[in-house]
Amino acid sequence: LFLGSRCKSTAAASDSSNPPPPPAEKYEYQAEVSRLMDLIVNSLYSNKEVFLRELISNASDALDKLRYLSVTDPQLLKDAVDLDIRIQTDKDNGIITITDSGIGMTRQELVDGLGTIAQSGTAKFLKAVKESKDAGTDNNLIGQFGVGFYSAFLVSDKVVVSTKSPKSDRQYIWEGEANVSSYTIREETNPENLIPRGTRLTLYLKRDDKGFAHPERIQKLVKNYSQFVSFPIYTWQEKG
Ligand code: ADP
Ligand code: MG
Repeated sequence: LFLGSRCKSTAAASDSSNPPPPPAEKYEYQAEVSRLMDLIVNSLYSNKEVFLRELISNASDALDKLRYLSVTDPQLLKDAVDLDIRIQTDKDNGIITITDSGIGMTRQELVDGLGTIAQSGTAKFLKAVKESKDAGTDNNLIGQFGVGFYSAFLVSDKVVVSTKSPKSDRQYIWEGEANVSSYTIREETNPENLIPRGTRLTLYLKRDDKGFAHPERIQKLVKNYSQFVSFPIYTWQEKG
């Protein structure tokens, strides 16, 4: 509702040659994703820090994919952005931003990648949870299987993904919240937020997890979990 009314006022303020951006569209998660998110959000799992390993591994996969595809299609690298991963922490506001200059996602790839479960590991995880007596509390399973992107919700109330694929001339924003069974996708229209290529994840940390937004903490986790990532990982702290 808020977005709708905001769009209306934008439309009133701008002329017809500059139409307002299309409003955010709402999507329901696939049932398995909702189950997985419930387990993650409500878990008592103590080893929450695995979220960083999962998100860095996705960034690294996206960079690998870009590098691989660029062998046959060098045009993919035309914007000359370095292949790297940047992690920014804002400890005052409890926000972590993870940016990669990888392959990015089109709108459809956002729906497929962050709204459904394609990977077999997660299916096995859900099966294992079902088989385990204390479903939802047997949280060692989370670390054992790795729950991919959704592990962001181990530590976050809200996750915003802004992404630009070389296949599309548009950048899209995916937004999801813990305990909400739907997510939204809208077009990125703020020129300040446009990226030439790749994906930026913004994690709005849960109150008790804001401690992760310290550069020293992130650097330690990167060292422990992601030492074999073949792209540079830079970390820095937002000026307070
Ligand atoms: P997996 O990595 O095992 O496929 P994830 O849940 O970690 O499962 O990620 C789901 C999908 O979302 C990935 O397969 C990929 O298509 C997409 N994705 C996630 N993060 C990124 C990223 N940083 N850049 C591009 N695509 C991504
Ligand atoms: Mg992954």
